[in-house]
Amino acid sequence: MTDESAASESTAASAVESVAGPSPAAVAAEAARLVDRAERVVVLTGAGISTDSRIPDFRGPQGVWTKNPAAEKAATLQNYVAEPELRRQAWRVRLDSPMWAAEPNPGHRALLRLERRSKLYTLVTQNVDGLHHAAGSDPTRIVEVHGTAREVACLRCDYRDPMQVALDRVRQGEDDPDCPTCGGILKSATISFGQNLVPEDIRRANDAALSCDLLLAVGSTLAVFPVARVVPLAKQTGASIVILNGEPTEMDHLADVVVRGSISDLLPIIVG
Ligand SMILES: [Zn+2]
Repeated sequence: MTDESAASESTAASAVESVAGPSPAAVAAEAARLVDRAERVVVLTGAGISTDSRIPDFRGPQGVWTKNPAAEKAATLQNYVAEPELRRQAWRVRLDSPMWAAEPNPGHRALLRLERRSKLYTLVTQNVDGLHHAAGSDPTRIVEVHGTAREVACLRCDYRDPMQVALDRVRQGEDDPDCPTCGGILKSATISFGQNLVPEDIRRANDAALSCDLLLAVGSTLAVFPVARVVPLAKQTGASIVILNGEPTEMDHLADVVVRGSISDLLPIIVG
């Protein structure tokens, strides 16, 4: 390395330092001041809030679909319905899901704090892991727009039961348990590809966004629609927007404050 390149590198390093700005904790404190002033907060959570509970993502290096391409195929409704072997594999995957042992982390618990301050109006989540319920959030305030993996649903009638009821049948030897009411195909009560979202859930999420004074998006890349629309909807009505995520999101440009860093560390600061 020549002296000249060493010099330019050190200039670049100090330039990075000077644009790096305030620490994540300082930015989180700025977001906390907005939360202090707000009276009606809507929170949208995505996969990022559950990674500290060791819920694997889908497409990352250790992702569920990266490690098991058949599971990705089974996530499309048409395939799941058409191919009994995919369903049998899906039941075996569900049996061993890390979700059953997962526990809420400080991020989930922080949102409980927001509820106790009487500021949390609605908690919209893209997650299917049930960890907001497990953390003790008021179930009437939670909207699970992508459904829940903690329940099983019949594709033909309105039968629903806890997932563990169906998994007990698998443990007892049924490799593709059917609906005890109508004999239809059972699936986790999540929204698969090719399956419609529940209109009532999307309506609740949008109505909440339109009537909040602060929207806090946590752990979502805000790239999945229609749920990500809650951010521009809230913005349109004049609500403050706070985004907390490990990486940049599609909607950072709409935010009053963007907090970048660990959700478990920073969300407790933001909710006060
Ligand atoms: Zn049925």
